[in-house]
Amino acid sequence: MAEIINGRELAKQVNQNTSLRIAKLAQRGVQPGIADILVGNDPASRIYSRTKRRKAEQMGIKFMIAQFPESATEQELMRTIEQFNKDETINAILVQAPLPDHLDQVHLINAIDPQKDVDGFHPINVGKLYNKQPGNYPVACTPRGIMKMLEHYDVDLPGKNVVIVGRSILVGRPLQSLMINANATVTIAGRHTKNLSALTRTADILIVAAGQAKMIGANDVKPGAVVIDVGINRTAEGKLIGDVDFDAVKKVASLITPVPGGVGPMTVASMLAQSVDLTEWKINGEE
Ligand code: NDP
Repeated sequence: MAEIINGRELAKQVNQNTSLRIAKLAQRGVQPGIADILVGNDPASRIYSRTKRRKAEQMGIKFMIAQFPESATEQELMRTIEQFNKDETINAILVQAPLPDHLDQVHLINAIDPQKDVDGFHPINVGKLYNKQPGNYPVACTPRGIMKMLEHYDVDLPGKNVVIVGRSILVGRPLQSLMINANATVTIAGRHTKNLSALTRTADILIVAAGQAKMIGANDVKPGAVVIDVGINRTAEGKLIGDVDFDAVKKVASLITPVPGGVGPMTVASMLAQSVDLTEWKINGEE
């Protein structure tokens, strides 16, 4: 039976550490600031933004939500991003996805100052990660949280077969780079992958970020594998479940994340920690 990763507890530890760093910054008269750009009325996005704001403010981070109507134009949003880029009290800028169809997320992300790109999506930061460039730069928060989790649970990465199901810019691709940089042997799968089950069974570490409820069952997992479930799916009854059939897979895996309470809390904790990184790098001249 697998050990179950406690993402909530680990996120609490990460947040405690972040709070200590915020207190040290306060002694130097500095408060980290996050600006969250929210467009339209997507209920999940509004809840997510509010959760981030509550946590950030509890920890002493300034958090402002720039709320725009569904009809907002790219020019309006660009102007706001430009203002936040110049604003000395803002260290981190987020554009909350999904955006309405008429807005191009890539344009908006490219307009963010790479040194305030707390989501790690700007091509300059993506390129630095891809090339394993030395120095400080932000990386995508969900993959960062997953790497922290694996480190905390002493999962050794060099030479391990890592299979990632899902190749989005949010999760799969940055995670692939982080894993390669950690000397794992990485395969990344998508919808076109043939015989996915045979592939996932080769994984010492299997990470699933496809958004397909319970797509991974016990027969898709090598006995003793570490299984990280990023997926968030809602059942007809409103229950949150992952991409992995948790009850079945926990019997074969050695370590597994639950949904909820696994990767999710670590994503928010990683974003808050990274906003403090950006603040520290800025005032220490370490960007
Ligand atoms: P996307 O829809 O952007 O990407 C999904 C990826 O999964 C695509 O690369 C797609 O392949 C692949 N995929 C989908 N179905 C299959 C399949 N049947 N077989 C193989 N590959 C498949 O999703 P995101 O990356 O944004 O999110 C993935 C999931 O993770 C969602 O459930 C989301 O809610 C959750 N999530 C959770 C977070 C957390 O903090 N816990 C944070 C971010 C996301 P292809 O490229 O070929 O289309």
